[in-house]
Amino acid sequence: MFKCECGGLLLPIAMEEFPSNIKGDEQLHYERVCDVACQDCGKVYYSQPYDSDKKQLRVVKETKQLNLKND
Ligand SMILES: [Zn+2]
Repeated sequence: MFKCECGGLLLPIAMEEFPSNIKGDEQLHYERVCDVACQDCGKVYYSQPYDSDKKQLRVVKETKQLNLKND
């Protein structure tokens, strides 16, 4: 089970669906991702491996909001 940096439990809140071209046995090998949220502090970790047998939290890097205004 995933743990937040605060020590709280991370539970899935959203899950990727199989693409329509992935069928049957292919689904066993397709690694879906899920979004998980901390039950204690509410922090959300996006696109974490759900089907991967590694079961390790992927490091989510900080991103900076792009300024898309055309001033
Ligand atoms: Zn937390």
